Amino acid sequence: MSPTFRHIRYDLPAPGVARITLARGEARNAQNARLLYELNDAFDVAARDDAVRCIVLCADGPHFSAGHDLRDSFVAELDRREPVGTWCGYHAAGAEGVMSQENELFLGLSERWRNLPKPTVAAVQGKAISGGLMLVWPCDLIVAAEDAQFVDITVEMGIPGTEFFHHPWELPARIAKEMLFASRSLDAQEAHRYGMVNHVVPAADLMRRTLQLAGRIAARPSLALRLAKESVNAAEDAGGRTSAMATAFAHHQLGHSHYRQLHGTMIDPDFLARFAGAATRPREETP
Ligand code: ZN
Repeated sequence: MSPTFRHIRYDLPAPGVARITLARGEARNAQNARLLYELNDAFDVAARDDAVRCIVLCADGPHFSAGHDLRDSFVAELDRREPVGTWCGYHAAGAEGVMSQENELFLGLSERWRNLPKPTVAAVQGKAISGGLMLVWPCDLIVAAEDAQFVDITVEMGIPGTEFFHHPWELPARIAKEMLFASRSLDAQEAHRYGMVNHVVPAADLMRRTLQLAGRIAARPSLALRLAKESVNAAEDAGGRTSAMATAFAHHQLGHSHYRQLHGTMIDPDFLARFAGAATRPREETP
């Protein structure tokens, strides 16, 4: 039975191609837990459909994704969902519950999508901020509109990077560090120069060019596609990706624990105060 979606759309725009669209454009596609699980359900639908050989991830509105919706009660949705991972224990005291929630919802989902056995192509316009990168980076290929911008503001929050810490596999180390240390925003051309993006196209051509690429991929034999993907991913993992990400995730949790001990908050309270001020402005102004 097909799942019912509120925050995404799912369609089959071309032979062999499934398209998943983030449909929360009015909120800059900020990610609440329901959106993330719907996205996961849609990836599963595409993965289980033998007629689908390539999956496109795109977004409504001027911006791909503003990151996590800080107003959402992530744990309430977690309680309603069947977990994709095995950690659970979301309500455990201290660091344990938070680490379990984020292992399931952020690291677990993004890593799961990275390992889907079919090629995925992200089409990105406007801003992809912090959690937005955790939707873009798990995709195998990235097509960026000329106005695309990629930015991680988590260090401003007092946290050392996103839960799915893929920065060193996407960018040269010094660029990754500057992105983290100084919240440096990479535009589409810079991201292309560093190999993070496959193609930069005019915004008006983003979907056409992405579907063109996806269609070319979908014409290839499915087994060769799966094995080619597994082979490249295995090379990244042989380079230490998995263990380095586990370390980064632990550091991320230490950041949350630090602020909980000091202030009872998940992140730097100064950032939260600035965010609360921003919340009185239009929604698209908030991270
Ligand atoms: Zn976190």
